Amino acid sequence: MNKQMNVTKVGILGFGGLGQAAAQVLTPKQEMKWVAVADQKGYAYQPEGLTVQSCLDSYRQHGSVGYLEPGGTLSTTSIRDLIQTSPVNAYFLALPNLPNTFMADVVQEFINAGWQGVLVDALKRTTAMETVLGMREQLQAAGITYLTGCGATPGLLTAAATVAAQSFAEIHEVKITFGVGIANWEAYRATIREDIAHMPGYTVEQAKAMTDEEVAALLERTNGILELQNMEHADDLMLELAGICPRDRVSVGGVVDTRNADKPLSTNVQVTGRTFEGKIATHTFTLGDETSMAANVCGTALGYLKAGMAFHRQNCYGIMTAAEVMPKFVH
Ligand code: NAD
Repeated sequence: MNKQMNVTKVGILGFGGLGQAAAQVLTPKQEMKWVAVADQKGYAYQPEGLTVQSCLDSYRQHGSVGYLEPGGTLSTTSIRDLIQTSPVNAYFLALPNLPNTFMADVVQEFINAGWQGVLVDALKRTTAMETVLGMREQLQAAGITYLTGCGATPGLLTAAATVAAQSFAEIHEVKITFGVGIANWEAYRATIREDIAHMPGYTVEQAKAMTDEEVAALLERTNGILELQNMEHADDLMLELAGICPRDRVSVGGVVDTRNADKPLSTNVQVTGRTFEGKIATHTFTLGDETSMAANVCGTALGYLKAGMAFHRQNCYGIMTAAEVMPKFVH
């Protein structure tokens, strides 16, 4: 097989902060070609490959990639239409998970359409992941290989915890602490809304219902900072399913600064355990402060997408989490 035949045709669902960053990460890659994209109002498909700038121009100037010429189509059922009309091997689901079952509904669309290929998400909430994990048999029957929780946390840090755990006979604690710095919250509306839903006194429904003005007013009161503790994050479920430790030993929290691109603290995961000799120790894996949330999420998601392609080629279908599989490196 020549190299050309191995190129994976990739689609991105959602063209907000993460979707746009994923398109940029994909652009220089030779093993993958970005051919399809959808937002809430339309979709675009170009078999020779989409260019980031022309999609950004359509999205920013007209409000949707559906205005792209050629290849764009306006639609209120953009995901369904794109799946049905365009040949794509794998999709990165860079969509808001609002309501909490939205990702599961999108996956159901793929199953209903009879689509076969690889799906990767950067899902955050434990309950949302439980819902998609419940679709395992349907995904297997459909011929879909779905990798869930493949962002930064859950994702990169959860996988790192799984590797770090190997030094120990028993894991006592996995503590994930993240720092996110973004210059402007509107570049990541869904991420910020979903983070607000983790704050005391807020629910997912309330965060979804908030207008942009209400989000801006809340951030004004907090000086642009969101402090989050003991979040409902699927890292706990993923590490439990991978056999690392019971989920109540996993905690996730962090600080998001929505007015400064610098991280307010260094993102890290600490894994504490007991070795076979009876020693208690902690491994710490810290991300470089210069790596953005977008770099850590999109790189990881595409690495898992490549891993998913290898499974799919071997007719291995169903659903796996980022704590069960090693990501591959995309060239
Ligand atoms: P965003 O708000 O910037 O963009 C969302 C995009 O989805 C928009 O382009 C919008 O048009 C599109 N969209 C919304 N509804 C749609 C529909 N019905 N059909 C088609 N397109 C639709 O979002 P974001 O800030 O990039 O976040 C995306 C997701 O990534 C969120 O769920 C967030 O929680 C998750 N995330 C995960 C991690 C992680 O480490 N696991 C980190 C950051 C963000």
